[in-house]
Amino acid sequence: MSQTTTAQGVQDFFKRATGSLIDGAFLDEGKSFEVIDPATGQALTTLCEGDRALADRAIALAKESFEDGRWSGLTPAARERILLRFADLVEAHTEELAQIETLNQGKSINLSRGIDVGFSIDFIRYMAGWATKLEGSTRAVSIGMPEGAKFNAYTLRQPLGVVSAIVPWNFPMMIALWKVVPALAAGCTVVLKPATETPLSVLRLAELAIEAGVPNGVFNVVLGSGSVVGTRLAEHPDVKKVTFTGSTAVGKQVGHAAVEHMAHSSLELGGKNPMLVLEDADIDRAVNGALMGGLFNQGQVCAAASRFYVHRSIHDTFCERLAQAIDTLQAGPGMDPQAQVNPLVSRRQQESVRGYLDRAREQGARIHVGNEVPTEGFYVSPAIISGASHDMEIAREEVFGPVLTVIPFDDEEDALRMVNDSELGLAASLWTNNLSKAMALTPRIEAGTVWVNTHVTLDPAMPFGGFKMSGLGKEFGPEAVNAYTELKSVCIAY
Ligand code: NAP
Ligand code: MG
Repeated sequence: MSQTTTAQGVQDFFKRATGSLIDGAFLDEGKSFEVIDPATGQALTTLCEGDRALADRAIALAKESFEDGRWSGLTPAARERILLRFADLVEAHTEELAQIETLNQGKSINLSRGIDVGFSIDFIRYMAGWATKLEGSTRAVSIGMPEGAKFNAYTLRQPLGVVSAIVPWNFPMMIALWKVVPALAAGCTVVLKPATETPLSVLRLAELAIEAGVPNGVFNVVLGSGSVVGTRLAEHPDVKKVTFTGSTAVGKQVGHAAVEHMAHSSLELGGKNPMLVLEDADIDRAVNGALMGGLFNQGQVCAAASRFYVHRSIHDTFCERLAQAIDTLQAGPGMDPQAQVNPLVSRRQQESVRGYLDRAREQGARIHVGNEVPTEGFYVSPAIISGASHDMEIAREEVFGPVLTVIPFDDEEDALRMVNDSELGLAASLWTNNLSKAMALTPRIEAGTVWVNTHVTLDPAMPFGGFKMSGLGKEFGPEAVNAYTELKSVCIAY
């Protein structure tokens, strides 16, 4: 196996980036911290972290940048053009961005190129187009007072103002863009905090946005811990919307902090996503779907398939084929395009996933583990748990790792009960060739997205966001951009 050579642009960027990016410039003040390569456990570079005072400074700047109209005052077409130029620059820097993401996050360079950067380009272009398509509507009002008066009423969409965005480490640049681009399309200004593990790609993105013509002060990145910088971004009274992706526990705190000053909030909080495989399903297709839906990005995906309810008549075959498939996968660093099993993001995440597996083993679970993985770096070999019970911890909690838990069922109603018996409800998939069953079951599955015969299939036009404890609000589609606007009613008497 041979590794991709690190591009000159990446090395130059590591030298140039010193810390938070505020008002168009990198800062080099504050406590320094190392950014780790998960494939080696060694430092890639060192950055300076921000603190509460820097979060305040960035919010003040974003407020000033909103109020002086340097961005919100542009015509929608001008904002659209700049965002399209931003997409072109991201495309032109595909290799550089993909390498930064792989070196920092651990994932395969193929995934970084195709999804993290590739999907992001499509996403930016899609959202750029909404800048010119925000609309209100006229309303047929019947106000009868005073007698003889006439009224014209309509709704108006206006940008909210300063948005703070707090994002996780699993898709550092992509999830950041899901928040930043609709906010910018609507005319808002942004302060973004990446996860401490993965600050690099968003810093490069912010540079490219500025190069594309987003004025200084409109898109700022503050580095620092969630407990200090994240808390401040959520609670600051000048922030009009807090948009968060991460754990349910932190999401609740962020939502509470936002409502204290009546800021809007959008919370995308992960899932324990079921895949329901009916007796008539195409088993090869379902196995491929499980591998893709469950092991993509080492299972560190909020919408990952992680609990599989499989009809007892096909359960053993399903598990055998999964086991055969994972036995062919070879581990290696993300920079090696041949490596199919890559490290998890951090030692902490590796230990967390191993802990779930150890406890499942102690509870008597039948576990098939894939090939050996390197001891250097944060690898976990993929694991299939077969014949599991729905009540086991591993079947109920979000593991966020390469672990597929398969549970047999006999009765479809019973399977549906187990599918819905979770606090979480982000996404689910149903595998069947029976159209009537698909039509009957999809409305009964409690999840924000229900896929049929596919899993983790996203599109910028398709709203994405959870039911139940998986969160509030939607990313993607016009719903996402509208959520960065305030809806005003205007009523004119004449
Ligand atoms: P997390 O703690 O929820 O972190 C997500 C983001 O929130 C990070 O930027 C984090 O900053 C920040 N944060 C942490 N505490 C905060 C606070 N009190 N106020 C405001 N912001 C705060 O998630 P994690 O610890 O990285 O991962 C834990 C688990 O969450 C995972 O195992 C997984 O189950 C779940 N998760 C879900 C998603 C998803 O896509 N929905 C993504 C990642 C993780 P720092 O990292 O700098 O502390
Ligand atoms: Mg964290």
